[in-house]
Amino acid sequence: GKRVGGRYQIISRLGEGGMAVVYKAKDLILDRLVAVKTLRPELAGDEEFVRRFHREAESVASLSHPNIVAIYDIGEEDCYYIVMEYIEGMTLKEFIKNYSPISIDDSIYIMKQILLAIGHAHEHGIVHRDIKPQNILINESESVKVTDFGIALAVSGATITYTHSIMGSAHYLSPEQAKGGTATIKSDIYALGIVMFELLTGKLPFPGASPVSVALKHLNSPMPYPSDFRSDIPQSIENVMIRALAKNPDDRYEQVTEMLDDLTTALNPDRANEQRLVIAD
Ligand code: ATP
Ligand code: MG
Ligand code: MG
Repeated sequence: GKRVGGRYQIISRLGEGGMAVVYKAKDLILDRLVAVKTLRPELAGDEEFVRRFHREAESVASLSHPNIVAIYDIGEEDCYYIVMEYIEGMTLKEFIKNYSPISIDDSIYIMKQILLAIGHAHEHGIVHRDIKPQNILINESESVKVTDFGIALAVSGATITYTHSIMGSAHYLSPEQAKGGTATIKSDIYALGIVMFELLTGKLPFPGASPVSVALKHLNSPMPYPSDFRSDIPQSIENVMIRALAKNPDDRYEQVTEMLDDLTTALNPDRANEQRLVIAD
């Protein structure tokens, strides 16, 4: 079969996105399975894409966390490629599609791992910028790994153009990004709120057709309540999502660690009578 970079023997195709095709492969030197992400050949002539592709490897390589896919190697022999830990399982998108409704306990268990991963990235000055279930991998024991820091950016002094800010999917776009603003820790938190909505309901809050109509809904339409879709959601859990999805970033969690702490205490008996959180416009 085909080889990449001399030592990686391609076995099968795992998936693809806008920028890359990801293969399951065998590292012939270390004799283990890996995932090899290759930049689409038609993008290899585009300096901007090559830079972004390399930046992905650099961002993730600086992180070491049980809930973040580890990077092993990068190279540009045969094609531009990133070698990473191979995750046996499925994307969280497929998981939600296959297993909804997911129990409240499982939803929290999964959500906490995602929050630990993104919290770790933020602590190291990295904003993910493309948080969505397609970029979260999950295995049989519900162990979660976040991947695809492809458009991640170091926080310090970073500015991005409008074009870049809509690189991600409109379904996870924060209101401030919909207005053309920069991706920040708070826009990652908003995307985490959407992922939480999907885990709890199996649905997107704004399942519109065109990216523009979806972006406008994030900007102007009130978020539906997951408890309208199923009756077993404790108000304290729903309130965590409501706070993450505040349209005004000032009303949103400041840090992922706050969201994690809040989610962790949400099942405490002393929060049993919590009222629905109402955020004024
Ligand atoms: P996007 O268009 O979302 O930016 P992308 O081209 O950057 O996508 P990835 O999201 O990194 O590519 O990977 C595409 C798909 O390949 C994933 O959705 C997943 O199905 C699969 N995949 C990626 N990394 C791994 C891995 N380490 N182990 C197993 N499968 C993976
Ligand atoms: Mg992706
Ligand atoms: Mg990507």
